[in-house]
Amino acid sequence: MMKQVDVLIVGSGAAGLNAALQLHYRGITDLLVLTDGLEHSTSINTGSDKQTYYKLALCGDALDAPAAMAASYTTGGAMHGDLALVEAAVSPRAFAHLVELGVPFPQDAFGQYVGYKTDHDPRQRATSIGPYTSRVMCERMVARVRSLGIPVREKCTVVELLTEPLVDGKRSACGAVFVNEHQQLEAILARDIVFAVGGPGDLYRDSVYPPMHRGGIGPALLVGAWARSLPESQFGLASTAFRWNVSGSYMQALPRVVSTARDGCCDVREFLLDWIPDTNELYSLLFLKGYQWPFDAARVPAGSSLLDLLIYHEQTVKQRRVFLDYRTNPNGLDVGSLAEEARLYLEKSGAVGETPLERLRQMNPAAVELYRTQGIDLAVEMLEVAVSAQHNNGGLAADRWWRSENIRHLYPVGEVNGSHGVKRPGGSALNAGQVGGFRIAEYIAHSRYAEPQQPITHIHQQAAWVMLTKLQSWLALPGVTDANTAMAEIRARMSDCSGILRHASQLQQAVDESCELLQSILQNGVVAGSIREQLYLRQAAATSLLYLDAVRFQAEAGVGSRGSYLMLADSGESLHPALPLSWRKTAENVHFRSQVLVSWLDEYQQPRHRWEACRPVPQPEHWFERDWADFRDGKVFGEDAGTVSFS
Ligand SMILES: Cc1cc2nc3c(=O)[nH]c(=O)nc-3n(C[C@H](O)[C@H](O)[C@H](O)COP(=O)(O)OP(=O)(O)OC[C@H]3O[C@@H](n4cnc5c(N)ncnc54)[C@H](O)[C@@H]3O)c2cc1C
Repeated sequence: MMKQVDVLIVGSGAAGLNAALQLHYRGITDLLVLTDGLEHSTSINTGSDKQTYYKLALCGDALDAPAAMAASYTTGGAMHGDLALVEAAVSPRAFAHLVELGVPFPQDAFGQYVGYKTDHDPRQRATSIGPYTSRVMCERMVARVRSLGIPVREKCTVVELLTEPLVDGKRSACGAVFVNEHQQLEAILARDIVFAVGGPGDLYRDSVYPPMHRGGIGPALLVGAWARSLPESQFGLASTAFRWNVSGSYMQALPRVVSTARDGCCDVREFLLDWIPDTNELYSLLFLKGYQWPFDAARVPAGSSLLDLLIYHEQTVKQRRVFLDYRTNPNGLDVGSLAEEARLYLEKSGAVGETPLERLRQMNPAAVELYRTQGIDLAVEMLEVAVSAQHNNGGLAADRWWRSENIRHLYPVGEVNGSHGVKRPGGSALNAGQVGGFRIAEYIAHSRYAEPQQPITHIHQQAAWVMLTKLQSWLALPGVTDANTAMAEIRARMSDCSGILRHASQLQQAVDESCELLQSILQNGVVAGSIREQLYLRQAAATSLLYLDAVRFQAEAGVGSRGSYLMLADSGESLHPALPLSWRKTAENVHFRSQVLVSWLDEYQQPRHRWEACRPVPQPEHWFERDWADFRDGKVFGEDAGTVSFS
């Protein structure tokens, strides 16, 4: 008899763990969390100078409301308004749950949760517990998962989703095939699948995602799940030996930015001065990078993102290595002559030390300690950095109850759910992952009472056996592709062609190469290696093909430069006379802010795309008694709930 479970949760980052808890709280207790590992997620391994959680403002006389917060989400464009409203409306509950679990978000003497402004945030909605907000969230949730006895199977990697066709042409998820802890293929059937596999961090050569996190959107793409906004990733400056964002105080301390020859020590130069000789201007921009961390197309050429671009140029064109040096001051630094914002901030923070390291210690001693615990002593060595992939705003397409838009019973949540558009407020990734868990659990709990339950039958078992056999046959192929070489190729292509600079002219070739690689893998298999590696490569190749083709499609549609990338074309704006001639920025076509790009792989694993109009932020007319009745009757779960106007 094949194993089966009511709800299967794939992934154990902040989003998967919370979904498991929320389901359990609502009486759905036949659960299983399948995961690469509790210690493998981005959530538990990452952070930043002040890792941010975004929620409705809850302090003082800050006037805030779900509709206002939803408006902040949608300003950058390409985000559906109903999803923005849900993420805003449910944010206080999600936040309160974390507080109750013991995540020590700071409150004042009156119980108010003090906030600060994060990027793309007009109010003070952000909060943080320091560098490790998401790690502590995970630790508290793991403790609760264990105390509730929710089963977790680690060292298990899902490689295929099991689906069955439906009469309306869509499909329904009914289980998964995974490589288990004994390196064997195993299948499990489930009524519902919560898919919480994180972002595609492993697909980039230059990445600040933790190395142990790989991301697993591939199995959903391979069964044709719709995705949206795939080209909208976020990039920023990060250290490479230990992957960490060098945002906030790491920049505000004003380190020396130098480049060296490939050996990392010869020919040390403060190369930024060649481009921006006015030291006050240069160091004011450097300071601003602290809270303007992600590369932002709107901040180039005028603005702090010019520094990311110059660093990228030094590395990719000049082939030199770039470091932050906290031991000595940058040449010509005069703190008293900096822009007022920078000068006042440093003074108020008591960051008046002689060297960048002293200032960093004065502002944020934990920031220095963090590197020391990783074996990097900023007092004696320089910190190598690169402009790195950090987050994908896009991902699988799901509705306001986090149901996949075309695969029934599949619920993408967390970073793999592409609810965000071109820009998102800092901290909203963590909020979205928590809110999603509430929505999924409420929907599934409702459906257990309201809908006839989809039985798990021998047909599903049969489908699982067929899939297992198919995968075994594929694994037995001799293969022509070496997994390590192919992964290095994929990562290089993704970083070079869909990073901060995207050359329309290079994209077709990148897509053709990706397509060839995927077809070869599907037809010929992969040269030996563990079955986990072989099957991982298969899904990584499919994923990178769809991502790159989405970037190509978007470039050809004329969307232009936006979010965290520049689309380059000969007809574009010159960024600096000394930069390569081909680095010319196309303007953003703002028409596309009201469109969302939907992408999927068809049955031949060929990329397909279409534009969909952004749904506006709903403005339902409320009347308590009527809304109460709709809630009692379960009408809030209906397709058109909230859209029918009251008259
Ligand atoms: C350096 C850095 C700083 C960040 N700072 C912020 C911030 O300040 N604020 C903010 O909101 N966001 C921030 N983010 C983004 C945020 O941390 C992530 O979006 C979020 O943690 C993702 O959570 P998740 O649960 O969706 O995925 P993850 O935490 O990545 O978890 C995914 C889980 O799925 C498992 N998995 C993956 N594939 C498979 C598979 N095929 N089979 C089984 N298991 C699988 C993994 O092992 C893991 O357990 C930052 C990200 C980075 C990299």
